[in-house]
Amino acid sequence: MSAARENLLALPLELARERLTRFMEERGEPRYRVGQAFRRLWAEPVRRFEEITELPAALRAALDEAFELPGLDLVAEQASVDGTRKFLFRLADGQAIETVAIPDGDRLTFCISSQAGCALQCAFCATGVMGFARNLGIHEVAGQVRELALLDPPLRATNIVFMGMGEPLMNWDAVAGTLTILNSRDGFGIGARHITVSTVGVLPGIVALGERPEQFRLAISIHAPNDALRRSLMPINVKYPLAEVIAAARNFDRRVTFEYVMLGGVNDQATHATELARLARDCGAFVNLIPLHPGGAGGFRPSTPSEMRDFAALLRRAGVEVAIRRSRGMDIAAACGQLRVERLRRRAPVGADQDGQVHVAPGVGPSLDPGPA
Ligand code: SAH
Repeated sequence: MSAARENLLALPLELARERLTRFMEERGEPRYRVGQAFRRLWAEPVRRFEEITELPAALRAALDEAFELPGLDLVAEQASVDGTRKFLFRLADGQAIETVAIPDGDRLTFCISSQAGCALQCAFCATGVMGFARNLGIHEVAGQVRELALLDPPLRATNIVFMGMGEPLMNWDAVAGTLTILNSRDGFGIGARHITVSTVGVLPGIVALGERPEQFRLAISIHAPNDALRRSLMPINVKYPLAEVIAAARNFDRRVTFEYVMLGGVNDQATHATELARLARDCGAFVNLIPLHPGGAGGFRPSTPSEMRDFAALLRRAGVEVAIRRSRGMDIAAACGQLRVERLRRRAPVGADQDGQVHVAPGVGPSLDPGPA
């Protein structure tokens, strides 16, 4: 019997409502029961139907026989001195994914994962090293936000960035379904402008995101201002070269953000600034300069703060809006994939004993600020 239970959290929001509607109709329940159960999926989540005490016990038991609400298994949590918290979740098949919660004033940004591992192999990224395992389902992508809302006390996101593990636009179905859940009043009710999808430049995905009526934001990981350098850092550039990515950004009906990880001596020279400025102007992009998180991959060194400031000044002088992103969670290896990698190697997390806040070990995600306000 339990094998036949349908996972309501893996369904797009409207489909889940339909399932509940049919279920209640078949049982001859009053209509308002649908809404009572439905809002417990995402908006005011519960772990088990049994906890929906506004429903009669027999109805709760019947729901539990027909459906399941599988959670993610929180196996590790780590807290940075700057308030950033990282969570490592184990999925039903043993895969592990990371989620990071980053407080900033009255904002709380969740950095969520869209895939277990990643196929893209960007030269500086820790997630690429582990390779690609599989796409996550809606219950695993939106499920990260749900799990944190179920903590005691709950963590409620004001902003979401798809900058954890994986390439969101290579898992469009689950990401599209998650976007609806994040934004809908029947879900988490987070404003579309507070939700950012970050991509290496997967063209069909950019088009699909642009076709959504909601004002979701797009960030593109550029990281190099010419094809030769970008190919060497990001193999995906062979399939989706810069000119096409910039054209897609230009056609996107909202302003895009470029992400640019500053790699000392590699992509931070004056000539790179000139080339990058041209690309940014070409599609009206805002540029976010990101300090390299040490402990990613490759033998890169972060550009120094003064190198970053000089680079930013060149861009600004060329008429480009630019910000230097603050790095968060440095002491807990919060860059993409770092904690999972660290855990697999069974190393002690960096700085764990210094602040004494580490509960177990690893968690994940990059340094994040969602970009232009
Ligand atoms: N695949 C998507 C989203 C996940 S990575 C993308 O590439 O955009 C989110 C961001 O973190 C990307 O810009 C990625 O390049 C960056 N990143 C990865 N490793 C990093 C590191 N060690 N330091 C700083 N940023 C890193």
